[in-house]
Amino acid sequence: MSTKIPPFEDSEWMNFSAKELYEEMVKWRGAFHEAVEHGRNLFASYKNIASSAAALIGDLHDDSPCWYDHHGYCQGHGWMEADIECPHARAKTLLKKTADIQKGTPHEQGNAREDG
Ligand SMILES: [Zn+2]
Repeated sequence: MSTKIPPFEDSEWMNFSAKELYEEMVKWRGAFHEAVEHGRNLFASYKNIASSAAALIGDLHDDSPCWYDHHGYCQGHGWMEADIECPHARAKTLLKKTADIQKGTPHEQGNAREDG
């Protein structure tokens, strides 16, 4: 449902009877509830996808520690990018954030390498 709200200054509103205003209000309330329900469904879908992705990352992730050489490459996992943190370190951070969110506890945003 898509209904455009005319600007308040639009005299059209001033010509509405109380009954017409009430009917408009009921229509908008319906549109609002539809939008909220749509948002809830989208959120549930993304939550399921995020949960599956986190489980998959958890299975693929190597929990052994990263060790960076003098170039900034992770020799522990064979990661040869200095500008992007080792994917196993990023996976560890993401899994921690996911676990925190699932527990309902706050977590720190980002990390030092991403923020720097
Ligand atoms: Zn690593």
